[in-house]
Amino acid sequence: MKNENLYRKLARLAVTRGVNVQKGQPLVVRADVRDYPFIEMVAEEAYLAGALYVDVRWRDQKIGKMDYLYQDQETLSSIEDWIHEREVKAHEKGVCYLSVISDMPGAMKDVPSEKIHAYQKAYHEKMGDTQAYTMNNIGQWCVIAVASKEWAKIVFPELDEEEAFEKLEKVLFEVSGVTEENDPLEYWIHHDEKLIDHAEKMTAFRFRELHFTNSLGTDLHVGLVEDHLWAGGGCTTPKGVYFDPNIPTEEIFCMPHREKVEGTVVSSRPLSYNGVVIENFTLRFEKGRVVEYHAEKEEETLGQLLSFDEGSSHLGEVALVPHSSPISQSGILFFNTLFDENASCHLALGRPYPENIRGGEEMSAEELYAKGGNSSLQHEDFMFGNGDMSVDGIMYDGTVVPVMRNGEFVIG
Ligand code: ZN
Ligand code: ZN
Repeated sequence: MKNENLYRKLARLAVTRGVNVQKGQPLVVRADVRDYPFIEMVAEEAYLAGALYVDVRWRDQKIGKMDYLYQDQETLSSIEDWIHEREVKAHEKGVCYLSVISDMPGAMKDVPSEKIHAYQKAYHEKMGDTQAYTMNNIGQWCVIAVASKEWAKIVFPELDEEEAFEKLEKVLFEVSGVTEENDPLEYWIHHDEKLIDHAEKMTAFRFRELHFTNSLGTDLHVGLVEDHLWAGGGCTTPKGVYFDPNIPTEEIFCMPHREKVEGTVVSSRPLSYNGVVIENFTLRFEKGRVVEYHAEKEEETLGQLLSFDEGSSHLGEVALVPHSSPISQSGILFFNTLFDENASCHLALGRPYPENIRGGEEMSAEELYAKGGNSSLQHEDFMFGNGDMSVDGIMYDGTVVPVMRNGEFVIG
């Protein structure tokens, strides 16, 4: 295997820092069959770290597409009880989850979008009560990515297959903080410290709202819930286990008030949603809700995203990322949220992270909702930051504090 040393380091990082699997704790890995050699390393590293067992849930993107094409809608949307039961049992055992992504963006574009929608809706409805396990950080979870030829072809269409793959592979290692020379663990400890420090500074301002403007046409007021907490870097479970849910991560993020978002936001990067790429879109908000939307490509899919459930036309996350982040500076469009969201200020439609409000992880769904938190079965990030983004923080007494100018932090 080429670059074996780098893959080994990434596997160890994913296991010991990403999910930070504890001695005697089970690990569930979600991965595509194309990544078998890497997943073998992940499993070995997990066992060396003391995992009780490693349960690999294999998928295959091509067969996944066939499932959509050949199964009728009714079959697609009947999710078996045992699938729900398996997760409930896994949570009782205190598992942690690692997802390894290498999907080809846009792979599902010829699948009728009603079918994808029907399956996703049925799946999220069936599994709804199990989502709190990761959304509330009860157990550790982590998403990482490795290059694939199919993905590389989309990112670097001008290169031949081999060159494209090698280039994507190289940049993914770099932005994930894995190099031949470094200790990735040390890199991430240091990197997280900076993000946590930044988040704490933002929290201390106790802003009522943020005001975003840029040359793309965004002019958006995002009200924040009271007692909000900015977060960034890693998270800690109730048992005190620290973990990094995303590798890489460059964002600090907070909880918008469900009903206090006004104005227009223009996307700055394409959004890959259920394997379909939505491009150049605009959303207009009134009282927190999207009341108008347009997209140059895949407008129908955007409409389905917004009408998924009541909460999917309201915001659940607002995140700040400086334009100078390494992922942004790479200039590469990854067509993958894990990377693209770390290149740009972003918003998420749907479910909020309870960690973004004081005491949120102990609140019931009703309590969170009463505080202005959104409620939805999905959480979809989209990017709207760029190099001339201005962000002001507005305090409860009306004081305006410049937070970002030209895409860079100007506070703290
Ligand atoms: Zn985010
Ligand atoms: Zn998000």
